[in-house]
Order: sequence, then structure tokens, then C-alpha cells
Amino acid sequence: MPQLRERVGTFTDSVIRRMTRISNRYGAINLSQGFPDSDPPRPIMDALAKAAYEGPHQYSITYGAQNFRQALAEKQGRAIGRAIDPETEIVVTCGSTEAMMCAMMTVCNPGDKVMVFSPFYENYGADAILSGAEPIYIPQVPPEYDFDSTLIEDGFRQGAKAIVVCNPSNPCGKVFTREELLTIGRLTVQYDAYVITDEVYEHMVYVPYHHTCMAALPGMFDHTITCNSLSKTYSITGWRLGYLIGPAEVVENAKKVHDFLTVGAAAPLQEAATVGLRFDQSYYDDLRETYTRKRDYFLAGLDRAGLKHNVPQGTYFVMVDIQEFLDMPMFAGFTDLQFCEWMIEHVGVAAVPGSSFFREPVNHYIRFHFAREEAVLEEAIRRLCRMKEIVR
Ligand code: GLN
Repeated sequence: MPQLRERVGTFTDSVIRRMTRISNRYGAINLSQGFPDSDPPRPIMDALAKAAYEGPHQYSITYGAQNFRQALAEKQGRAIGRAIDPETEIVVTCGSTEAMMCAMMTVCNPGDKVMVFSPFYENYGADAILSGAEPIYIPQVPPEYDFDSTLIEDGFRQGAKAIVVCNPSNPCGKVFTREELLTIGRLTVQYDAYVITDEVYEHMVYVPYHHTCMAALPGMFDHTITCNSLSKTYSITGWRLGYLIGPAEVVENAKKVHDFLTVGAAAPLQEAATVGLRFDQSYYDDLRETYTRKRDYFLAGLDRAGLKHNVPQGTYFVMVDIQEFLDMPMFAGFTDLQFCEWMIEHVGVAAVPGSSFFREPVNHYIRFHFAREEAVLEEAIRRLCRMKEIVR
């Protein structure tokens, strides 16, 4: 067989999405791959029905339909505190997955270095490698998931072109403080590099924390590529609507990368989702309240099940420490992946093994998401409460 591209052999398929397939095979409650199980808001569904009959059905402008970009510019302009030019500062992509890949392909030459925090959403490692870059991992140390900024400076000294910041962070639920972002920003400007942010959980931040956009900090717009998506905010993960926002010189090149990768995101879906981008603040306040309830309910359930967990400041993910199970004779030699497979089969609840997020050899965490209806979470908790009896 002719040789394939070597770099692709250096990483595995997505463990997050693999867990969903395994969970489906056993009919388990899937708390692995994070996506909401609620319907999109009614006005968005109505707009989709209308688009089905009235169009558009053909290509939109490759970097995004005009009114979709206009609505995005207004919404995100408010978040960033600066007018965003929908013509020159936005590219609409197929999910933030494409936005992140597009950002890396726009910034990196082969051999360039990109800093990625560890634990990290698994796409970033693969994105860096596929775009020809070499990731440098910056540990975020549990249980607080703090980081040492001198390591970031070291990374820039080694010539890193960019640093990826997922804020709020998947999988650890950290919300970066303004001070932390200012530190990262200052180093980025000093070394004339870019911050590539992933802000898809921007509206899932719990009191007393709040989300700060990197691009909103003084002097940072010109050094920031913001990747974001509508998936989580409007419960439309299958629509694959994302975008990136950045300075015009970056966006000009990102438009080319995006055009040749995918041409564009689905036109009727952009049309329908524009309605959502125009929702007023009460929608986002309700969303935050809904997720606060789910978080509090699920964490209380984990406490009842006697499982040790962190308290996420944002996102709908929680990390659970499974060391006490791994120490039991019946799990001797188990990896966290094997533990998750066992849990799917014998407990009926799916999680993601933490090792798929960590660069370091950390393998005693699993990640649950709680973006599920309360009845589903209740049943998951009931099963998890039984887990200690099963293993006794
Ligand atoms: N961000 C989600 C997670 O971490 C999944 C997104 C995806 O699979 N594309 O579970």
C-alpha cells in the first residue's frame, strides 16, 4: 500500500466521539460527548421551516450570508465592546471545529509552534499537527487547573506563533480571570504572536464568575482570533454553524483557507439561525439559569453517589476523580478508557476518559457532561449511586 501522510498516524480518532458510538451500542445514558438534548428555541425552528419553502437553498457568500454576519457582528460586537465589520472581520465556518482549524492554518507555517493548555479539548492537538505546527503543552494543574505563566513565556521564547485559550475551558470548567487573560495577552503582544480563543461556552458561566473576551482587552483585538459557534448556545450542534472573528489582515487569509476547505456553511441554516442571534439578553440569562440548575442538580447527585468532582465555573462539564476505583483489585491494570468502557456496560452511563484531554500521564479522571434533561440526569445519578454497590 502506498504510504499515507505520516502526521495523521500520530494521533488517534476522537475519543469523545468514539465514546458516543460505544454508548449507543450499549444503550447507555450518554454523558460523554457534550451536546444538549433540548430542542432549539421555537423561533429558530419556525425560521428553519420557513427557509425550507422560501430558501435560500443555494450557496451563500462563501465567508457567510450577509444578514447572518450582520447579526453576528452586532451580537459579538457587544461582547467585545467594539464595532465588528461584518465584511472584513468575520468568517462563518462549519462549526467552531472548522474555525479552529482555519485559524491554525491561517497562522502557522509548517514547523511553527503553537501552545495548547493541557488538559485540552482534543481537537486542538490534532488541529495543530494537521496544520503542520508542533504543539507545546502548558499544564493546567488539577484540582484548580492553574497554570504557570513563566511556561507560556518559555513557549513564546521557543518561537510559538500562537496560544490556544479555551475559555470557559473544556474539559475542566475553568473560567479565566481578567488578570490571567491580561497576563497571556501581554506576553502575546510582547512576542508579537496570536491568541486563538475558543469561546463556545461563553454563555455557560456560573455566578460569581463571568466571561471576559480576550479580544475585548486593551490592545488585544489585533492579536486575537476568536473562534465560536452557535451549537451550544442555541442547541443546534448538528447544524454546524461557527465563525471566527479577527483583525482584517488575518480574516482576509482565513477567508481563503475556509473557501478552499468547505466553501461555506449551510445557507438555509444560517438564514434560520439569524433569528437566534437577535434574541435579547433575557434568552442568555435564562440559558445561564437553566445550566446553573443542571449543574447544581448533577453535582449534588455526584455527591450522593460519593464521587469526587471539581466544581465547574463554566461549561457543562465536570471532572470526576476515579482513583479510588482504580485502586480496587477488580480494576487492577485498568486504564481510564477501560474503566469508561466498563461503566458503559455495567453501570449504563457513558463518560470520556480524562487521559484523552491530558498531555501528561494523568489517567484517573473521567469527564461527564450535564447538558441533559433533568429526568435523564436523575436516572444517570441513580445508576451512579449503584456503582459502589456493584464494585463492592
Ligand atoms: N465539545 C464537545 C465535547 O467536548 C463535542 C464537540 C464535538 O464532538 N464536535 O464533548
